[in-house]
Amino acid sequence: MSTVPEPAPGGQAAKKSVRDVDVRGKRVLVRVDFNVPLDPAGQVTDDSRIRAALPTIQYLIGQDAKTILCSHLGRPKGAPVEGLRLAPASRRLAELLNRPVAQARDCVGPDVQSQVDHMKPGDVLMLENLRFHPQEEANDPDFARQLAALADVYVNDAFGSAHRAHASTAGVVQFGRQGAAELPAVAGFLMQQELDALGGALHNPEHPFAAVIGGAKVSSKLGVLAHLLDKVDVLVIGGGMANTFLKAQGYEVGSSLLETDLTPTARDLLAKAQAANVKVLLPVDVVVTEGKVAADAPHHTADLGSIGMNEAIVDIGQMTIEVFGAELLTCQTILWNGPMGIFEMQPFAEGTIAIAEALAEATRNGSTTVVGGGDSVAALEVAGLTDAVSHVSTGGGASLEFLEGKTLPGVALLDEK
Ligand code: ADP
Ligand code: MG
Repeated sequence: MSTVPEPAPGGQAAKKSVRDVDVRGKRVLVRVDFNVPLDPAGQVTDDSRIRAALPTIQYLIGQDAKTILCSHLGRPKGAPVEGLRLAPASRRLAELLNRPVAQARDCVGPDVQSQVDHMKPGDVLMLENLRFHPQEEANDPDFARQLAALADVYVNDAFGSAHRAHASTAGVVQFGRQGAAELPAVAGFLMQQELDALGGALHNPEHPFAAVIGGAKVSSKLGVLAHLLDKVDVLVIGGGMANTFLKAQGYEVGSSLLETDLTPTARDLLAKAQAANVKVLLPVDVVVTEGKVAADAPHHTADLGSIGMNEAIVDIGQMTIEVFGAELLTCQTILWNGPMGIFEMQPFAEGTIAIAEALAEATRNGSTTVVGGGDSVAALEVAGLTDAVSHVSTGGGASLEFLEGKTLPGVALLDEK
């Protein structure tokens, strides 16, 4: 057996997965992300996060484990809120599993402990919203120990919460092991998939490797840009943040979203890219609105250098779509974060949808394509192409921090292979 560590997702050694530990008949506490949208009647309006956790839950049931699920839902601010109970999610889970799921009234305390004591192999119990207790977000050691005491094995399958050091993502391992005989801490299948896809793109990409970075502000993507610079062959920059780069190159951008104070930083990034032999693609034409930014505002396509003072860039232009698309189709790995325009306004969604289509085509051609970021994933859904790319990250903030090269506490604490 080799002692050389496996390729490192997120800069860390590979993590143990739920398959690497004995869970048969054991009490397994699984941190899931059931932070699902609810309608006013308390119905789950989008169950994709519940579906995403099914492989781990079904595996545990198949292993005759006692599956104890925990999650946060919304922002109850440390006290019970009727509308933020997890019962609608556990009802939906029961439908998807086609077997009963018990719903606890709390997530810690003697009642929960006794409910767990009465579980039989194969049973599934959903704990109540973790954030009904302020100790969850405070990563309180006692609260974390109470969670840990419910279980023989801890599984984190909530990638979307892994960038937060909360009791259920960090403390349960940090503090739960003190005094406890042993609490293996491993990744669930969804977590594993995220680490493999994002980590694979970052640390072991097939070249040429392109990153498409967009979104509103350079400031929110500086960390990502800096971290990707020495990894990618091609950097495609679009969206509102491209404006600051265009300005740095001496183009007027009218009344567009602009971070004037960051033009030197943008210039610096472009110089670094050049030094690192990274090909940078910026828009060559753009869609601008006249007077105001609104879906019904008059708009036209403008070349760089011909943007009027009261015009605002809202999307990339047709020529840019073609240049970006052609470049991406030469790449073996593509990472996309950030829309190319104000895609929420239908007339300005074209550039973003075209990028989604380019990724879909690249995927069909055998390239690996990974999409992260809340709005980018939403745009992919608008384009109807969620299933047409290799991987869609379920973690908005978490995927961003991962791409910045930050250590995610919820990942770092898991056992290494
Ligand atoms: P993600 O959530 O995928 O990481 P961001 O949050 O960084 O993406 O950016 C998404 C936002 O960027 C969207 O709300 C979109 O309207 C905005 N945006 C994109 N292009 C522009 C533009 N040219 N001007 C203003 N806002 C833009
Ligand atoms: Mg966003």
